[in-house]
Amino acid sequence: MPPHPETWLKVTEAGLYCEPGGFFIDPLRPVDRAVITHGHSDHARPGHRAVLATAETLAIMTRRLGEGRAGESQQALGYAEALDIGGVRVTLRPAGHVLGSAQVVLEWQGARAVVSGDYKTRRDPTCATFEPVPCDVFVTEATFGLPVFRHPPAEEEIARLLASLRVFPERTHVVGAYALGKTQRVLALLREAGYDAPIYVHGALTPMNEVYASFGITLGDLRPATVANREALAGAVVIGPPGAIQDRWARRLSDPVVALASGWMRVRQRAKSRGVELPLVISDHADWDELNATLDAVAAPEVWVTHGAEDALIHAAGLRGIRGRALHLVGRGDEDEAVAEAPSVAGSAPDGAREATEEPP
Ligand SMILES: [Zn+2]
Ligand SMILES: [Zn+2]
Repeated sequence: MPPHPETWLKVTEAGLYCEPGGFFIDPLRPVDRAVITHGHSDHARPGHRAVLATAETLAIMTRRLGEGRAGESQQALGYAEALDIGGVRVTLRPAGHVLGSAQVVLEWQGARAVVSGDYKTRRDPTCATFEPVPCDVFVTEATFGLPVFRHPPAEEEIARLLASLRVFPERTHVVGAYALGKTQRVLALLREAGYDAPIYVHGALTPMNEVYASFGITLGDLRPATVANREALAGAVVIGPPGAIQDRWARRLSDPVVALASGWMRVRQRAKSRGVELPLVISDHADWDELNATLDAVAAPEVWVTHGAEDALIHAAGLRGIRGRALHLVGRGDEDEAVAEAPSVAGSAPDGAREATEEPP
């Protein structure tokens, strides 16, 4: 009998720990050996000694955290490669979440566990598509693990943005999008839809756009959205971080249409409370149908849920004979989509407009 993953893949205070391999996956605090699924701040934290991840994730971490803070030593592992760590075979498979995002496949003595990190299964022009890996235990998120969350095709949401631009050709369309992943996806989808005008970006988004470009993800004519060129911004698309779309920076734009790209925009009240006129339901997390289809695709007899709406997903899994377990990992979800519902930090700053021109640290 292969050893059950719960005997060698453990939940500790620092996060998921692979005992025979001696490494953590997306640990909460600095550790000796970390395997990182992707570059979002709730997964890729600073201060580890050795970090293993895809080359893309390592580049994102280094840019976000600064040289030397993204692991004293870094080792890149490609999607097609395998590594033996203490007898554990480690491979990274695409998670379809953001550039470089990976599921960590762990095989030990005939048992296989897959830690998916964050994922979505839809096509995204800016990253490799999710690949289901059959396993004994599938570790999943459940950010949108309720039947109410069904994301429409992102292309349809982009078409609504372009339709609004045609209806209000004088108004600046300000789109809130998280810096890592969502911004580049929105930009790429706009280009795919044939929108080839310059797109103006908030300075806080530039570093990640540059990392994407360095991996060949080109996003067309991007220009800095400084308050100085207000005239040029009339009728243009401006992309900023979710926290900036309500602050003085955005209000100085020409009669702005405020949009926000997030899975939470499915909930009308959340859009309304954030002053979003044009909610765009675009998510980099699996929706309810994707979560359930993935459980079927990986055919694991057991699913562990890291965070999100655990109860509903575990219940749905149970109905299909899949054993569910809630891991209650702390510190997850404070990124990306979750930011869209948190109170705006930038909005309460004395002068949010500074953000528009300053380079982030
Ligand atoms: Zn993420
Ligand atoms: Zn996350």
